[in-house]
Amino acid sequence: MLLLGAHMSIAGGLEKAFSRGEEVGCTAMQIFTKNASQWRAKALSVEDIQAFKQAWDKSPIGPVVAHDSYLINLAAPEDDKWQKAMTAFLDEMTRCAALGIADLVMHPGAHTGSGEEAGLQRISEALRRILDQAPAGVRILLENTAGQGTYLGGSFEHLARIMESVGQERFGICFDTCHAFAAGYDLRDGERYERVMEAFDRTIGLQHLALFHLNDCKKGLGSHVDRHEHIGLGQIGEEGFRALMQDRRIASIPKILETPKGDDNEWDLRNLALLRELAGEE
Ligand code: MN
Ligand code: MN
Ligand code: ZN
Repeated sequence: MLLLGAHMSIAGGLEKAFSRGEEVGCTAMQIFTKNASQWRAKALSVEDIQAFKQAWDKSPIGPVVAHDSYLINLAAPEDDKWQKAMTAFLDEMTRCAALGIADLVMHPGAHTGSGEEAGLQRISEALRRILDQAPAGVRILLENTAGQGTYLGGSFEHLARIMESVGQERFGICFDTCHAFAAGYDLRDGERYERVMEAFDRTIGLQHLALFHLNDCKKGLGSHVDRHEHIGLGQIGEEGFRALMQDRRIASIPKILETPKGDDNEWDLRNLALLRELAGEE
């Protein structure tokens, strides 16, 4: 069975994401475990955790992954910002552990002027410190980025360097198709998709793939502009997604949409139906 779904809202309570996900036919789902644009959140209560686990137990949705807050920048050169980011990320891991969520997606961070080398070292040091104190059972998924501005993680090499310097076994990779394309990895047809996967395998290793974010891309190849588009309607197009959906090597890896939802999640339904069709499912 395809593990396919979308990022779903937790408005009104974390457990509410399940009924929303079920309505659009998710078999996998991504959530924030708190408001993603705020630093602080109320600690999870026993009741919050229970409601979440009960809804998950009753749900046909299998894997649930979390995405961290967009405010967190583990590459920040300023010590106060860096400390704040580490504290916040550790809290995100703790929330995941409490909820039974095994994978937490994060963007490596932006060096904001200190330079690529300093930024990569900063992230690695932050992750080492975090992992020293982290709860067991939560894996960090490093997400590739569009490489916009001073953001690190646009190249597979960046992700490989972080993993190697911190310890590979603590990480998986979240591969975002829009970010890859915007960063210059051409996914527009089967042949080009294959070349990107070969580069990924050489640099990081396909065995580290843990999650896909399936987003088409509004802007051009190598534009470094991160704007998500509906599947097939962007610059990547249907053929690239067909190649990905039919790739047997990654068939069992969860795949998540982060595209605009429209009224009543109408676009989630359309994008998910198209992806199933491209996979060759009835
Ligand atoms: Mn992301
Ligand atoms: Mn993404
Ligand atoms: Zn994005």
